[in-house]
Amino acid sequence: MKFEDLGLSPETMKAIKECGYETPTPIQAQAIPLVQMTRDVIGLAQTGTGKTAGFTLPMIDALSGGRAKMRMPRSLILEPTRELAAQVAENFDTYGKYHNLSKALLVGGESMGEQVKLLEKGVDVLIATPGRLLDLFGRGSILLNDIKILVIDEADRMLDMGFIPDIEKIVSLIPPTRQTLLFSATMAPEIKKLTTKFLSNPKEVSVAPAASPAETVEQFLVETSSKGKNALLEELLGSEEVKNAFIFLNRKRDVDIVAKYLEKKGYAAAALHGDMPQAKRTETLQKFKDDGITLLVCSDVAARGLDIKGVSHVFNYDVPMNADDYVHRIGRTGRAGKTGRAWMFATKYDEKFLEAIYERIKRRLEVTNMQNNFVQDKPNKPKKPSSKKQKSSKKPTISDDGDDIVGFGEDIPSFLR
Ligand code: AMP
Repeated sequence: MKFEDLGLSPETMKAIKECGYETPTPIQAQAIPLVQMTRDVIGLAQTGTGKTAGFTLPMIDALSGGRAKMRMPRSLILEPTRELAAQVAENFDTYGKYHNLSKALLVGGESMGEQVKLLEKGVDVLIATPGRLLDLFGRGSILLNDIKILVIDEADRMLDMGFIPDIEKIVSLIPPTRQTLLFSATMAPEIKKLTTKFLSNPKEVSVAPAASPAETVEQFLVETSSKGKNALLEELLGSEEVKNAFIFLNRKRDVDIVAKYLEKKGYAAAALHGDMPQAKRTETLQKFKDDGITLLVCSDVAARGLDIKGVSHVFNYDVPMNADDYVHRIGRTGRAGKTGRAWMFATKYDEKFLEAIYERIKRRLEVTNMQNNFVQDKPNKPKKPSSKKQKSSKKPTISDDGDDIVGFGEDIPSFLR
């Protein structure tokens, strides 16, 4: 199928051509005609499949005729995270370039005043995270009676993040005559329930996940101890041709610590996690896109679904506790036909998680031997109890945690040998 066969407007076609897209992706080929027929749609697809254009392209054409009233948006797209909401908003700007549609992005952490001003003028497309939307609704800044198209994107992620009650509340505020599109990578029972309740005679379309990461991402596993991770990371940053990289950690607190450590060592590194103020998150992401920052140390929530082109490496500083997260993490590299390299640092405590990952990716990873596997980044000096020069109160960093042992010694677990 060609884009020309989809009956999109000449303005939308022009914008698509400028993006360099040649043919619709499978989810686009299936979803666009259904959205054009004003059908409710359940789309089983994850990020990377082109699903955003699958709903934004026909929405832009559908909305191009009318005009928004004050405080009454004409369409609503719900996204689980601020970053995904911002990405969808960018897509609207790109694909809607030759239309005169107005949009507002309503996400937590950004100034409410600006968002309310835009809403007051009237917007065609409102892209929001559930919490902030309900907040503004509660203050009477917004009315949902004129919503003609509702998109619930990344429904499974919404479920993981506990947003389903918020979604239910929001949907109950929108007239049932709307068209509803729901996208989810998986169909958990709770999401199935949501579709029966809120979609009317929906048509289901599904696509296999985007090219399996195994095809475009080379994966490596290194055995280490938690104290050896910094030295290992630095060794790899020196030996690999790292243009830029996502470095994933499991805990937000550690994200800050490792980002600071790398900064101190002179790397252009910065942290990205859900506890940071939104303005800082946006600024950091932009710097990463513009190559001002080359190492983005982050948590899963902040990085989920981010589509940044040309990322050469992913480092799993911590083994993710969820096998799907591993696939998402390494999928940040090897995008758009490029290849990427993904490294994972495993300790003896990760056996269970590694097994789940192997099951998910349908292969086992061989252990790569490195010089610094079990070495602290600063070698321990022998203790000199009488020396006056010896510092007694060192600032704790994760690289410098005293003189206790590093590595497993004889204790290396069999699965890592
Ligand atoms: P998404 O799954 O919506 O996050 O899209 C993933 C990536 O695919 C984005 O970088 C889009 O710009 C790109 N994309 C979307 N549709 C097409 C297409 N028809 N051809 C080529 N790339 C596309």
